[in-house]
Amino acid sequence: MTPGVNNLLKKVAAYKPSEDVELVRRSFEFAAEAHSGQKRVSGDPYIVHPVATAEILADMHMPTSIVVAGLLHDVPEDTDRTLDDVREAFGEDVASMVGGITKLGKIKYRGIDRYSENLRKMFIAMASDVRVILIKFADRIHNLQTLSALPPHKQKRIALESLEIYSPIANRLGMNIMKSRMEDLAFAKAMPKEYEWLLALSQKAIKVKRGYIDNVRQIVQQELTQAGIPTVEIHGRVKHLYSLYKKLLRHDRDMVQVHDLIALRIIVPSVADCYAALGIIHQRWRPYKGRIKDYISQPKPNGYQSLHTTVFCEGGEVAEFQIRTEQMHQEAERGIAAHWKYDEGGKRATPAMKKEYTWVNELASLKTDRDNTDSFLAALEKLKIEVFQNRIFVFTPNGDVIDLPEGATPVDFAYAIHTQIGDSCVGARINDQIVSLDSPLSSGDCCAIIVDKNRKGPNPDWLKFVKTSGARSKIKSRTRHKLNKWIQELEGGKDDRSKRS
Ligand code: MN
Repeated sequence: MTPGVNNLLKKVAAYKPSEDVELVRRSFEFAAEAHSGQKRVSGDPYIVHPVATAEILADMHMPTSIVVAGLLHDVPEDTDRTLDDVREAFGEDVASMVGGITKLGKIKYRGIDRYSENLRKMFIAMASDVRVILIKFADRIHNLQTLSALPPHKQKRIALESLEIYSPIANRLGMNIMKSRMEDLAFAKAMPKEYEWLLALSQKAIKVKRGYIDNVRQIVQQELTQAGIPTVEIHGRVKHLYSLYKKLLRHDRDMVQVHDLIALRIIVPSVADCYAALGIIHQRWRPYKGRIKDYISQPKPNGYQSLHTTVFCEGGEVAEFQIRTEQMHQEAERGIAAHWKYDEGGKRATPAMKKEYTWVNELASLKTDRDNTDSFLAALEKLKIEVFQNRIFVFTPNGDVIDLPEGATPVDFAYAIHTQIGDSCVGARINDQIVSLDSPLSSGDCCAIIVDKNRKGPNPDWLKFVKTSGARSKIKSRTRHKLNKWIQELEGGKDDRSKRS
């Protein structure tokens, strides 16, 4: 029996008209046919994976084109159907997303030393279309959910990659839900001992605190109602395990210093209500000095807005409150995905949003991000400069990143890898297409150099198109060497350079 698509269709039907549901059904049939006979490592039919990916996207009320691309995301890479087939059946827009995901699939995290380079590669490749990142996140979440079927060393690599590369990007995009889901799934596999330890610790602490928080919630509700401040919702939020882990590492693993294991979240209709609610809370309980944060007037670089305060609460216990409007809440949880929900055209971000969320702007704002001071930031700072200097990032077939100036060609790329590769290159493939050696490369391209070991050396004509000084000087020195040798042979050993050069 083929696994069903009904659940997915139901999810899409919940927010999209019937012609969109039909389109999703049609793309399911296309994907199911393409993947037919294939199995995942777990033994499940392969189609289970793209359907699960699409369901995650539909749960987030993503535009239909993104859900469709989610269903098709592994087709060109893993089946006989090509990207052109996808384009013919579903159009350029869907095909460009699927192509983007295929490109991203080539990136592999290879340990901490390659961290920043791969990160860069991802950023650049993704920068052209943020929708591709969303699909990749959904794909990754399902892969993390089904990680147990893989051998342990693969589990660990994928889990670490998720923690080191994917979740920081989700954070940059303000996508708290996807970030937390990936982190909590990956944390268990990347650091099983720490995870178990923390799970036990936090469950114990939550058990103790739950009754207390419930009591405080009722008091807050009462106080706000008395003051005439309307509330949408007041709920307790439990800190996610991986962010708790990172926080504990900063505090000598001392749980007592973590005041926001459970925080009370107050959602009110307007910004004015936020500040009014803060006043009421401070009237009742003394605020903890230096712990009032106004992310409404000064949002975090990823757009996060809320008021935070920590107070000496009932019985002198320390408790954290987060106060925000409904819209701020949606954005905090869903990040840029919250905007898409309202973009019924569904194709891309609105122009204003696009401007707001381009990577350059994201990167430019990093400096002010007080909460991120680790190596991730340092890598991004460096990237920002290079982005402004018109650099491009081109992948080797192994997933390494070669950093080149704009307009660089396969010859520049070959010399950047190794002089010998440059000297003996006879052709190149960019993204599996044979190209001439003077074709300009673009960021995110995967370039493979075709070498001929018998080649005598570089072609002086290459000097007409190379862009890097490295390639230029190597070609010159090789050809000069060859020329000199030829002259020597011709003139019986007399080197008369002045006439020749
Ligand atoms: Mn996949």
